[in-house]
Amino acid sequence: MTDFLIKGALGILTGLPGAAARAEGDIRVRGSVIAEIGSLAALPGERVVDASGAVVTPGLVNTHHHLFQSVLKAVPAGMNEALAAWLRLVPYSYWDSIDEAALRVSATIGLAELALSGATTVADHHYFFSDRYDFDPVDVLFETAEQFGLRFVLARGGATRGRSFDGDRIAPLPVEPLDRMIASVEAAVKRWHDPSPTAMRRVAFAPTTPTFSLHEAELQEIAAGARAMGVRLHSHLSENMDYVDYTLANYGKRPVHWLAEHGWLGPDVWFAHLVECEEDELHLLAETGTAMAHCPQANARLGSGIAPTDRLHALGGTVSLAVDGAAANEAADMVSALYAAFSLHRAQKGVGAVNAETILHWATAGGARALGFESIGTIEPGKQADIAIFDLDAPRYFGQHDRVLGPIISGGHAHVRASFVAGRQVVVDGRLPWLDIEKLAADAARVVARIAAPQEEGRLGANV
Ligand SMILES: [Zn+2]
Repeated sequence: MTDFLIKGALGILTGLPGAAARAEGDIRVRGSVIAEIGSLAALPGERVVDASGAVVTPGLVNTHHHLFQSVLKAVPAGMNEALAAWLRLVPYSYWDSIDEAALRVSATIGLAELALSGATTVADHHYFFSDRYDFDPVDVLFETAEQFGLRFVLARGGATRGRSFDGDRIAPLPVEPLDRMIASVEAAVKRWHDPSPTAMRRVAFAPTTPTFSLHEAELQEIAAGARAMGVRLHSHLSENMDYVDYTLANYGKRPVHWLAEHGWLGPDVWFAHLVECEEDELHLLAETGTAMAHCPQANARLGSGIAPTDRLHALGGTVSLAVDGAAANEAADMVSALYAAFSLHRAQKGVGAVNAETILHWATAGGARALGFESIGTIEPGKQADIAIFDLDAPRYFGQHDRVLGPIISGGHAHVRASFVAGRQVVVDGRLPWLDIEKLAADAARVVARIAAPQEEGRLGANV
């Protein structure tokens, strides 16, 4: 790690809201921290990072992912299915085929895709833990993230009760008693969690969904357990009407109201999706500081709908952006997520729904707030030097009058010239220098060939 000066950028998108969303000038980094911004000359011996013709943003924060799904993209059986059937046919059909080597390959694909699209912080929600594994997925995921030099949050998922699907012909989903789940989260916290504001590694307590994966009586204990450990709570919620119908039928309340009674709202809680929220639920989320991980692509891909993200934002709530698992997405990069959020809300509610700067705010400062990282998410002196530099060297960006917004409003393939996490360079000239992409492609093909074949047979009835 050396001190350096990011020089000559076309513009800076700071991640801040309103008039402060844009800045100009050069950025001096000392150690892991942004030291100053302005018209700056290089100091003797200072390394200069050339940002000419490029846009500088805070490193993007992906607040919800399932890295094990990067080898489950475009599974034919799930391509045209909605959430429940897709869950059964894709992740739940393959979970016991993902061994340690496959998980490492899958996580490497996903993290490479994210890093090369400007992500510097990733929260992964891993929800399969079983005695059938001879490895600990938590260790594999942290170790893989460490190779990339990304900030990494492991949201430790899992279930205490199984979810049945009509016509199940799949390996039973792993479930564990609550005391074992809590003990396992405690062990992960002890091994990997760093509570400091500049942490590179954090753990969250994240049962797969309170609605279908837990017994109601356990909710309070889990929330209290997470708070006693000093970690955040995360889960899937209200991804589609199935969630709402279920809590209305079983508890007489909509999901957010139901969880409010069990201590599951607060500034230390973030939920993926929240597509089906009524106005009073959004008020409750905003008032309590409960954050949304907005997953526009997965929600669109699975036909779940468009979350009322713009409304939660307008109410002062915390909104962040996420790609969600690649099996519900086919690609899981942050630039695609930015463009999906930008276009979908405007398609639904008109051009006044959201602007490009707000989308970037969700993907940076919003993500930092959702994950509880006070020291990242904006380009400001004193913040950690988590920074992405986007090239505008592709024809799609040519001809734009306001060129600074290109990485958000133009979609397509990300062109990240460089990125930094805590002042350490991650992406160099559009590449991850240590990663052999050709080998990764071959590894991916090998994993897919291995896990795809038995599953085809399994679905025919052998693997009950
Ligand atoms: Zn998810």
